[in-house]
Amino acid sequence: MRETALSADVVIVGAGFAGLTAARELTSRGVSVVVAEARDRVGGRVLNHPLGGGKVIDVGGQWTGPGQERIRALGEEMGVGSFPTYGEGQHIDYTDGQRAVYSGPLPDTNPAVLAEVVQAIMALDQLSQEVPTDAPWEAPRAREWDAQTVQGWMDANMKTAAARARLRTALEAVYAAEPHDISLLHMLFYARAGNGFLNLVSTEGGAQQDRFDGGAQLVAVRLAEKLGGSVYLSRPVRRITQEASGVTVESDGFSFRGKRAIVTVPPALAGRIDYSPTMPSLRDQLTQRAPMGCVTKVHAIYDEPWWRKEGLSGRVVNDEGPLKVVFDNTPLSGSPGALVSFIEGGDGRRYSGLPAEERRRAAIDCLVRYFGPKAAKPADFVERDWSAEEYTRGCYGAVFPAGTWVSCGKALREPVGLIHWAGTETATVFAGYMDGAVRSGERAAAEVLECLA
Ligand SMILES: Cc1cc2nc3c(=O)[nH]c(=O)nc-3n(C[C@H](O)[C@H](O)[C@H](O)COP(=O)(O)OP(=O)(O)OC[C@H]3O[C@@H](n4cnc5c(N)ncnc54)[C@H](O)[C@@H]3O)c2cc1C
Repeated sequence: MRETALSADVVIVGAGFAGLTAARELTSRGVSVVVAEARDRVGGRVLNHPLGGGKVIDVGGQWTGPGQERIRALGEEMGVGSFPTYGEGQHIDYTDGQRAVYSGPLPDTNPAVLAEVVQAIMALDQLSQEVPTDAPWEAPRAREWDAQTVQGWMDANMKTAAARARLRTALEAVYAAEPHDISLLHMLFYARAGNGFLNLVSTEGGAQQDRFDGGAQLVAVRLAEKLGGSVYLSRPVRRITQEASGVTVESDGFSFRGKRAIVTVPPALAGRIDYSPTMPSLRDQLTQRAPMGCVTKVHAIYDEPWWRKEGLSGRVVNDEGPLKVVFDNTPLSGSPGALVSFIEGGDGRRYSGLPAEERRRAAIDCLVRYFGPKAAKPADFVERDWSAEEYTRGCYGAVFPAGTWVSCGKALREPVGLIHWAGTETATVFAGYMDGAVRSGERAAAEVLECLA
């Protein structure tokens, strides 16, 4: 007979890195868990796409870098090796219809523009030092910074349109949102949590430094395997009821009972769950004010990475798009060749509504402009529109617009009765990243352990 109700000490909602980590921490302390996952797979925002012969590309989160110790340690523990992002050769800067190549970490084809962009990044990184990542609303200038957008700051502090366009490209690459979508306070919080904005846009020595050999989802899959039968797939949580005796977490025709619950989905998705009793107004207001970024991740797959033989790294920067940054995403074995890019922010929303063939054509046209005619006929084209995913609704993570942190930020992590909150959005280190997700799972598990003690 099919079981329709299950009990454990703790019910965890979501089997991404946050949920799986929380589950592991708790079970290692002898606390029983069940994990209710909406999808028919684990990993959430990380997902492998098979290329044949056991090779994969990541169509979700993939890169790690220095400072991201928790995800890197987890990968090691799960026996998943990592390797450096390919970067040999020259990178392409395609600006105003002109193609140029460069070698350093940032495009220096227009030194005046580069100088202005670096100056702006340094200024922002300096401001970010004043933001406590566990309570951004307590920054001395929190109100002033949360009352304006990053676009407002750029307009007031950057002189040339060319430099603003370049910084905008960098911001879109990090937030999958446009500068006018993002509160300045949020931008500064996120940068501080990620060891500085410069770190977030850097490859060697920065956040894009390494990839997992076998894909980031392999780390999640192996972690789930270690949890044995406690992960329940295809169980979208619809309602959570709290009573003095515990919580009931309901999916379709199925329920889980526990002493406590940990909800690991991003705020925008947490707000779609029904709660009884209703959430306190501050928490509900928060979940109404924390939209997700918007991104379609695209890969063009070729028999081999022919650009390498031409002395190119596969990296591109372009301020017009729709593909504004490109990387070589070839598997470690060296074939097939893969170029990866992202359609982000406003472009992401616009292109999301187009027929797939139009999106593909626009993407391939960009690659031909950057790399020449060889890019025109990929053997395969793989795209993933994360804003169209029912159980993600946008990526890379939540992007707080003006006003959210100061008015509702306190409700981000504060438990509500027997419900605790995790997920990368709640992290104070590398929020928005896989590393932040792991850390949030560890923090929520510690919180619950203290309550159960
Ligand atoms: C295209 C893309 C590129 C990225 N690039 C990087 C990168 O290079 N480096 C990096 O560090 N990070 C990157 N990220 C971000 C990174 O993937 C995430 O920060 C991280 O995976 C989030 O983990 P999480 O556990 O907090 O949330 P999630 O992975 O979103 O996990 C939440 C889980 O909850 C499930 N769920 C949702 N609703 C319900 C419900 N009602 N009931 C039950 N289950 C539910 C979801 O299916 C999901 O499995 C990227 C993300 C994307 C999409």
